[in-house]
Amino acid sequence: MKHITVFGAGLVGSLLAIYLKQRGYRVTVCERRADPRRAGVVGGRSINLALSDRGWRALEGVGMAEQIREIALPMRGRMIHDLDGRQALQPYGTTGQCIYSVSRALLNEKLLDLAEQEGAELRFNERCLDVNFEQPTATLVSPGHPAAYTLETDFIFGADGAFSAVRSSLQKTDRFDYEQSYLAHGYKELSIPPTADGQWRLDNGALHIWPRHSFMLIALPNLDGSFTCTLFLPFDEFDKLDSPDRVAAFFQEHFPDVVPLMPDLQEEFVQNPTSSMVTVRCHPWVRGNVALIGDAAHALVPFYGQGMNAGFEDCRVLNELMVAHPDDWPHFLEQYQRQRKPNADAIAQLALQNFVEMRDRVVDPQFQLRKKIEAQLHQQYPDEWVPLYTMVTFSHRPYAEALRLGRKQDDVMKQLLREPDLEARWDHPETLEKAMRLFR
Ligand code: FAD
Repeated sequence: MKHITVFGAGLVGSLLAIYLKQRGYRVTVCERRADPRRAGVVGGRSINLALSDRGWRALEGVGMAEQIREIALPMRGRMIHDLDGRQALQPYGTTGQCIYSVSRALLNEKLLDLAEQEGAELRFNERCLDVNFEQPTATLVSPGHPAAYTLETDFIFGADGAFSAVRSSLQKTDRFDYEQSYLAHGYKELSIPPTADGQWRLDNGALHIWPRHSFMLIALPNLDGSFTCTLFLPFDEFDKLDSPDRVAAFFQEHFPDVVPLMPDLQEEFVQNPTSSMVTVRCHPWVRGNVALIGDAAHALVPFYGQGMNAGFEDCRVLNELMVAHPDDWPHFLEQYQRQRKPNADAIAQLALQNFVEMRDRVVDPQFQLRKKIEAQLHQQYPDEWVPLYTMVTFSHRPYAEALRLGRKQDDVMKQLLREPDLEARWDHPETLEKAMRLFR
């Protein structure tokens, strides 16, 4: 039986291990960290994540969706907070669609449990140093071995995240393209605790945004009544917030309605790290007996809430190809790369674009008018005009196609929004028909 080694027991590595076990392979997963189910939650990246349709479908594929629904909180739209503390809901979908806030730690633990139940061998505290893609072999370090040791296997998946060691090894091989770019913004996680009786201090059915043009604060609900907030701010602005008083003054100036909800703001601000955000593009994803998946193949900035969803979709697509071409590894790997690479590039691009939308455009009246027109178009021409956010979040249409259609929609809307008095007749049949004529 073919022995597959997966490096990384994060969200994507553990889901992949389940799929591979269900296809009948022998699977070993090596993770550099301790077992999160035993060691407790180690401070890492975002505490909760937005799970949407692509992620759900991949979880359905291994029979886990129902279990995860029990720990997921639906968010029906963006709740926009203005400087005066007014809140306005912008629904995500036209037909009540929701994205779901899920704890990263809980989700990861449940995936690991199932991987183990399916018979995957999970090895923790085992760090991959490098791989040889031909044989293939990997060099690892672990507390159980006095020195680095070599692991022999039949195939290696690098699911070891944005700073993948597996990918670093491929980078040393001929004609491997690699590109990484950091944002000038960093992020810091903060929290809004529950009330004394365990309730949420804000609407728990929305993703909250405090858009402030060049920066923003967001908050996602957790099951225990708390919210995890993330402040996205340019690094040089973070540098200026170098004392508790400056932090308090900054929040009082820009997010006054949040200050009473965050009793531990100043302590958390000092204690929690300021982290960076990176986009990674590389090619090829498959070389010899090694393949990349999830963030190791395509790290995205978080603004479309699609990094994990895209990684889960990688697993779902790979599985479908395995089913269609049983044991024909060269063929399905080639198809996997061919199908996924353009889509990963597209969602990376969309994620960068959406940062501007979230922090700036959501408060622009023109943007709000456009959203109204698009919702109307979608209602009247549901198969033809699907808003970009809906295509990305609530459909399984390839990301590259969503990007292409979204650009076309952008052109149409730019033309329409130039018309005088559009505000007064945005929903008239002639306006909508004109939009469709331009679009077709
Ligand atoms: P990771 O989650 O990074 O897991 C990689 C694993 O590999 C880790 O466990 C790591 O310890 C292990 N590892 C690393 N190096 C080695 C090594 N050398 N040897 C062995 N093991 C190793 N996505 C969404 O879909 N929705 C969201 O709302 C969302 N919000 C986000 C918010 C923020 C602030 C950030 C930063 C990201 C967000 N993402 C979101 C993206 C999401 O976190 C990632 O896309 C997802 O975690 C990728 O999963 P992964 O398993 O590929 O990588």
